[in-house]
Amino acid sequence: MSLKKYLLNIPETAEKRIVIVGGGFGGLKLALKLYKKKFQIVLLDKNNYHLFQPLLYQVAMSGLEPSAISFPLRKVFQKTGIHFRMAELETVIPSDNELVTNIGRLKYDYLVLATGAKTNFFNQDQIEKYALQMKSAPDALFIRNRVLENFEKALNKISEEDIKSYLNVAIIGGGPTGVELAGAMAEMKKYVLPKDYPELDMHNMKIMLFEASPRLLSGMSESASASALKYLINLGVEVFTGTPVQDYDGTILSLPGGASIDVKTVIWAAGINSARIDGIDDRSYGRNNRLLVNSVNQVSGYENIFAIGDNALMTASSYPNGHPQVAQVALQQAHYLAYNLRQLTKNRPLKPFHYTDKGSLATVGRHLAVADLPFARFKGYFAWLLWSIVHLFSIVGVKNKLIVLLNWSWKYLTYDQSLRLLVKHKSKN
Ligand SMILES: Cc1cc2nc3c(=O)[nH]c(=O)nc-3n(C[C@H](O)[C@H](O)[C@H](O)COP(=O)(O)OP(=O)(O)OC[C@H]3O[C@@H](n4cnc5c(N)ncnc54)[C@H](O)[C@@H]3O)c2cc1C
Repeated sequence: MSLKKYLLNIPETAEKRIVIVGGGFGGLKLALKLYKKKFQIVLLDKNNYHLFQPLLYQVAMSGLEPSAISFPLRKVFQKTGIHFRMAELETVIPSDNELVTNIGRLKYDYLVLATGAKTNFFNQDQIEKYALQMKSAPDALFIRNRVLENFEKALNKISEEDIKSYLNVAIIGGGPTGVELAGAMAEMKKYVLPKDYPELDMHNMKIMLFEASPRLLSGMSESASASALKYLINLGVEVFTGTPVQDYDGTILSLPGGASIDVKTVIWAAGINSARIDGIDDRSYGRNNRLLVNSVNQVSGYENIFAIGDNALMTASSYPNGHPQVAQVALQQAHYLAYNLRQLTKNRPLKPFHYTDKGSLATVGRHLAVADLPFARFKGYFAWLLWSIVHLFSIVGVKNKLIVLLNWSWKYLTYDQSLRLLVKHKSKN
């Protein structure tokens, strides 16, 4: 029998079954809020771990191992009674209240889609083929590998032009991810790479950050953008705003006006969209494939299907294009939905979602960060300290917090990081 026809082995109970797809910020929070209530909770994720994406860039820049920012979902769910299956959602059949995954089918009473977002290459196929992205733990490891591998290759090149193209790094997208990556790369160039590669002249390495819009961190205040720009320039990053990259063929990065640069490491951090789910009506999707939801996160056209987090598009007077795709929105929507699902089963009124913006932070490097909080804007050392504390406390698991703290302290004291293993697939050895 095909796996897809097989009914997943989850016990039938008298309780309503809530199937949550996605164990990211939104899905995990929702499951943990509901498991003590009178529901049967089934959580599906294509991976068996929860990933703390905000620190992915440190994995890419050899600062942390992926295990420090990932937490096994089965461990989180110990003693909760939550049923976890590592499964990838493929199709929803709303008329039968059933979904199809790569390992079998499953009935639901309520379905919550918390599947997050993916990298948006804006239909630029060549760029998608040759540039690196940073949305998952393997993506971050690929970046780490590519940077280190290209440095190893540069050692064996003769012409200066060749050497430069292997050392150069271009980051596309001047949002928080691009800015954080560029800053971390610049610190690596300053403190780590000259010691590891004394035979290479670091003046041959350019770190370039390209942003199509007129300023970096366009979701933050103008003063935060200006400070981030100043910090990056001081760290030696070449920043090009108002510069939409045209194409990339694996070696040549094409820029507006016919200009081009030879660069072997290109990282695309210029946008996200969501993956469409088979079986959900096309009319239920809005901009960037986000699912249109009402003020209680119900997907347009369906009574018992909900979406939260990055893949949900809820418009409100202060957010006409939907809420920002950040962890706080996913967490807060999970909180409201947990309440509303309980209200729904009791036929009581539902509470419309209201987003409490706790502010934005972005870091560029040691003692360099910007903070836009509802009550204050600041930058520099205190913003960096706040960024560090907020991120440390947000990581799931005490052990992970300690590992991250240890790595950060080591790096802080020694100006070095020790995780520079080049992990290759067996066939490439
Ligand atoms: C590099 C990076 C840096 C970021 N930095 C910050 C930051 O500093 N601050 C901030 O607030 N936000 C940041 N974000 C955004 C933040 O991570 C997201 O807003 C947040 O993760 C959204 O939560 P979510 O639950 O909607 O989705 P996610 O946390 O992305 O979770 C989605 C889950 O769904 C699973 N999944 C997807 N498709 C399927 C499927 N078909 N079947 C089964 N499972 C599936 C995935 O494996 C994943 O576990 C960053 C994101 C990235 C990529």
